[in-house]
Amino acid sequence: MTDCIFCKIVAGEIPSKKIYEDEKIIVINDLNPGAPVHVLIIPKEHTENILTASSNLLPYIQAKLGEIVKTLGIAEKGFRIVINTGEDGGQSVNHLHFHVLGGKTLGWPPC
Ligand code: 5GP
Ligand code: ZN
Repeated sequence: MTDCIFCKIVAGEIPSKKIYEDEKIIVINDLNPGAPVHVLIIPKEHTENILTASSNLLPYIQAKLGEIVKTLGIAEKGFRIVINTGEDGGQSVNHLHFHVLGGKTLGWPPC
């Protein structure tokens, strides 16, 4: 989608170091990390949020998650996945993405 920053990253129009990539998703470091490990899992196909995503996307990401968190070194101690959605949810980029945070004991609640 024109003017979507994550579509531009997926297309390579904005350079990024991809931690993981396959035919459906990329994983990149968040520009402003909120934890020692803070990556974004970004579906290659543009969709606005979790409500508009295809129903097979979540199972697909779950199937790849073990490998991704192992690569990041956070499989053993744990991590958090966040999907900010809409205005109240704090979504600032309207291309679905999954924050994966870890590398320290995270606080709760996050608001
Ligand atoms: P949201 O607020 O929509 O849940 O998350 C968007 C995230 O994307 C933010 O954590 C922000 O730091 C990150 N972000 C925004 N622009 C870029 C960018 O150009 N590159 C990377 N790597 N992350 C970005
Ligand atoms: Zn997009």
